[in-house]
Amino acid sequence: MGGAMIITAREMFSVSTPSEYRDWIIGHGPARGAAAAIGVALSDVGNDHRGPTPAPVLAYINEGRWVGDCPQCNASMMLMRGAPFLCANCVNTDLGCQARPLIWPTDDQAEIEALLTVRSIANRNWTPGESVDLLRAENIEHRAEFA
Ligand SMILES: [Zn+2]
Repeated sequence: MGGAMIITAREMFSVSTPSEYRDWIIGHGPARGAAAAIGVALSDVGNDHRGPTPAPVLAYINEGRWVGDCPQCNASMMLMRGAPFLCANCVNTDLGCQARPLIWPTDDQAEIEALLTVRSIANRNWTPGESVDLLRAENIEHRAEFA
């Protein structure tokens, strides 16, 4: 798979709304059983959190995909813009299956993506805090390896 973009759950799972994304998460893997095991109805899975705001999950880019790591079980999840973080493995059972806040880079997403998509997919990596200047310098320094 090539193409000049960093993919999200939207492209990978063919979902177009946060609701479809949530349904995909619940419909695949162990999520349904994990929710049932703690007595949470499927209609309540992935709802906005109540009470104190949980620690946010930070979006990052791994091999051309926007992902986030679950703070509960460490599963890596494909992310979707506009949707909160809901783990397909543990469904955030430590929060009663409520969603976690998800933080995307604020200003530079388009430029980050543009600088990464000139690279081979294995080298399309970004972690929060890496500047566009750093990515630009890496593209020059590692031009041969990134091709
Ligand atoms: Zn998890």
